[in-house]
Amino acid sequence: MNNVKDPVVVRFAPSPTGMLHVGNARTALFNWLFAKSTGGRFILRIEDTDCDRSTSEYTKMILDNIRWLGLSWDEGPGKGGDNGPYLQSERLVSYREKAEILIKEKKAYRCYCTQEELEIRKQEAVSQGKQPIYDGKCRNLTAEDIQKHDEKGSGYTVRFIVEPQELIVEDLIRGQVRFDLSLYGDFIIMKSNGYPSFHFAVALDDALMGVTHVIRGEDHLPNTPRHMLLFRSFGVITPQFGHLSMILGPDGQRLSKRHGVTSVDEYRQKGYPPQALVNYLALLGWSPGDGQELFSVEELINKFSLKGISKSASIFDPQKLDWVSSNYIHKEDPSDIAIHSIPFLQDAGIDYVDEDYVVKAMAVLKLSLITYSDVVQKGSFFWNKEYEFNDEAIEVLERCEVGKFIEVLLVNLKDWVEGSMPGEAVRNASLASGIKGKEIYHGIRAAITGMVSGPDLAGIVNTLGPERVQKRLKCVLQKFWMADKNES
Ligand code: GLU
Repeated sequence: MNNVKDPVVVRFAPSPTGMLHVGNARTALFNWLFAKSTGGRFILRIEDTDCDRSTSEYTKMILDNIRWLGLSWDEGPGKGGDNGPYLQSERLVSYREKAEILIKEKKAYRCYCTQEELEIRKQEAVSQGKQPIYDGKCRNLTAEDIQKHDEKGSGYTVRFIVEPQELIVEDLIRGQVRFDLSLYGDFIIMKSNGYPSFHFAVALDDALMGVTHVIRGEDHLPNTPRHMLLFRSFGVITPQFGHLSMILGPDGQRLSKRHGVTSVDEYRQKGYPPQALVNYLALLGWSPGDGQELFSVEELINKFSLKGISKSASIFDPQKLDWVSSNYIHKEDPSDIAIHSIPFLQDAGIDYVDEDYVVKAMAVLKLSLITYSDVVQKGSFFWNKEYEFNDEAIEVLERCEVGKFIEVLLVNLKDWVEGSMPGEAVRNASLASGIKGKEIYHGIRAAITGMVSGPDLAGIVNTLGPERVQKRLKCVLQKFWMADKNES
């Protein structure tokens, strides 16, 4: 199996028991970056042996989200490879065979203790102030004992023998971590339903797939001694381990649903560019050491190293993600923003005219966007004939002087043609009405967007074009000024 001089082989091994959490996505990203930056291989393996909680829908969603993030795998579901299958539920024979070998080698044994018996003995141990670990009752069953159990048809698990000793993990991120194995006890490698335990499946697959580096969340650190013992029992070189610190919410507690959005899919639905999420996730516990915070994927690959990973926990900061996302979108070509934004316009049922119009609008809107879905609200005046007027805009439009200016302007706009700007018409209307400067721009903006602030006004006018602008001005005049005038 693996040899230290072999190229890097890493894996991301999600359990399909829920949506892809941003913490897991960061684990996937760091593995992917490590593989890319070292010319290694990135394997994707689905750990679906927990039959009660794993679903094929979650598997599908997880794969889809990893693809969306751009973390393509060298081996794994849908891609194949020499080490497949890549779903643990399709590898049951290898776990069963290996467990039998370990039993023959006296490294593991069948345990016939029932759940109830185990529970009673655990309580007894606790009441005597002892560790509630497995007491080794079945470790030395004779062939006769086993035969009796089998004749009765008793179910059994397979336990791996753990000798009390100190085990040192040389963690790539956390340094030396010492474990007292007398606190572990013989652990289950095969469950009574014929499925492997999590520990056994992970370690055997990592061994069979030639994984050289196991980079995963800190929550798995206490599992690592068991995995190291298994590697030793298989007679293969143990991979190197690196455990990533937890991601916390702003209150210092482990990031969870109560902190808000935590799944990659929700960020996707909200319209964050995948590259921005990748950039932000990279900053959660890693830095290149030179203060740079905005990266292209190529830069991340070039700059990534395990040395840049921090031991301390990181705080998930949605505002920082927004900052990264807006920076990403601001640099994007309007036609690319349009491609990504159109699905959000469609979902909102917006009749956006045509793609060229959307691209033109994006050139104007892009500096105000944080996500692609923002185009629906922030550009509402581009898409909707019946746009809303906010209070400030109403206040501006209810002023008689603005109405006077718009009235003259409309007359002056008669010859305004598509592709030109109505600068002269505006100047003349200003002279004729005596309304100047800010008032003019506030008035026009309020009239054609329903707001008093927003993206560049010239860009808005240019994008809407003569027909829409004039229609809007006429409507506004009717609604806010002529109505008043008629009443008086
Ligand atoms: N399947 C495990 C999880 O989703 C990961 C195991 C590992 O990375 O070793 O937490």
